[in-house]
Amino acid sequence: MSDTTPAIEIRDLHKRYDGLHALKGIDLTIPRGRFFGLLGPNGAGKTTTIHILTGLVTHERGDVRVLGRDVVEEYRFTRRQIGLAPQEFNFDRFFPIREILVLQAGYYGVPRKEAERRADDLLERFGLTGKANQKIQKLSGGMKRRLLIAKAMIHEPEILILDEPTAGIDVELRRALWTYLRALNERGKTVLLTTHYIEEAEALCEEVAIIDRGEIVALGTPDHLIETGGDRYLEIHLTRPPEGPLPAAIARRDPHVDGTRVVIGSKHPRRIAAEVMNALYASGLEITEVRIVESSLEEVFVGLTGHGIDQGPELAPPAVPDPAGAVEGEIHEEI
Ligand code: ATP
Repeated sequence: MSDTTPAIEIRDLHKRYDGLHALKGIDLTIPRGRFFGLLGPNGAGKTTTIHILTGLVTHERGDVRVLGRDVVEEYRFTRRQIGLAPQEFNFDRFFPIREILVLQAGYYGVPRKEAERRADDLLERFGLTGKANQKIQKLSGGMKRRLLIAKAMIHEPEILILDEPTAGIDVELRRALWTYLRALNERGKTVLLTTHYIEEAEALCEEVAIIDRGEIVALGTPDHLIETGGDRYLEIHLTRPPEGPLPAAIARRDPHVDGTRVVIGSKHPRRIAAEVMNALYASGLEITEVRIVESSLEEVFVGLTGHGIDQGPELAPPAVPDPAGAVEGEIHEEI
């Protein structure tokens, strides 16, 4: 494996569940060290994709590789490279949480002493040291969410895959988790997360694939997607319609003039605003209103798919905040 071997490589991936064609030829390359987001509504195929990567679901067609190795033929190798924090809590109710982590490390052959050291370190980092000897039932929803990520990290994988890591948790905890995930990525981990929160993808991901109904409909940095798929313009309202030609500094930007309204399309409307306004003033025109319009990733998503992120094929109910996730106080300093 060379340094340029991608962390994840997926070619022409298809998956059917009985009659349902859930993945219709997915292609993805995720370089090592990238913070990558798979963004899509409920039922788009995000979980199916990551379950194929982690060997939990089989696929009938396509080539799926982790660090250059096939996920079916070299399942043992590829599975070790991945820490998966699934959407659902999957803890053993009978053990204290420190023991849950130690046992998980044991599945990957980590010696007990080393496993205990890692468990203590992760519990501390996630603000869970005080709960180390408690069973899972005693943890709030937000604490369980953190433990899920700690469990995914215990065997020190190269790649961390998080399926909707902040679903149903409050804003404060979400931001604390973002900070933690960013720090992990800065230390070199490849992070793949699925989300249907546009703002999460915008805040965290260097690159985003938008998936809808089993197909990748767009791929790029959030900025690139917004620039190519969204509207960006400067809209200026004048006190009276311009009589002669507009000043050269504006005319060269191919403006659209409609009475007192001047619209200038630009990739960077914010940057050109001052120059355009100065040129208008210098030519004796007075401005009553200036609007800078920059689409969000959400608008790009709607433009591409024809529906909102919360209106996937299955029309999921709105996310209900997890009341338990809102209670704890110690997380902010730690994560
Ligand atoms: P969500 O955001 O709701 O988790 P998702 O993007 O992760 O959605 P998947 O869970 O991959 O979507 O589901 C893709 C499609 O496959 C959906 O139509 C879903 O109902 C269907 N599906 C998923 N798992 C199964 C299964 N085990 N059996 C049958 N159909 C399934």
